Amino acid sequence: MCYGCNPSCENCKPKFVKCPACGLKNYLFSDRCVKCSAEISEEVKDAARDEWQNSHEKTSSKAE
Ligand SMILES: [Zn+2]
Ligand SMILES: [Zn+2]
Repeated sequence: MCYGCNPSCENCKPKFVKCPACGLKNYLFSDRCVKCSAEISEEVKDAARDEWQNSHEKTSSKAE
């Protein structure tokens, strides 16, 4: 998160999902890869959100 961030900050939410077929970065709201037209399922998007969250919570999760 940026300093003084708010929930609608564009920097602090996941924006991209990798195409499961070709690996191209697509926007999270895309339903199909712009390159190979593979379907980007909700599962894949969820995984991308999880991954994004993991990579952005390194500083705040020092409990263990
Ligand atoms: Zn931010
Ligand atoms: Zn693709």
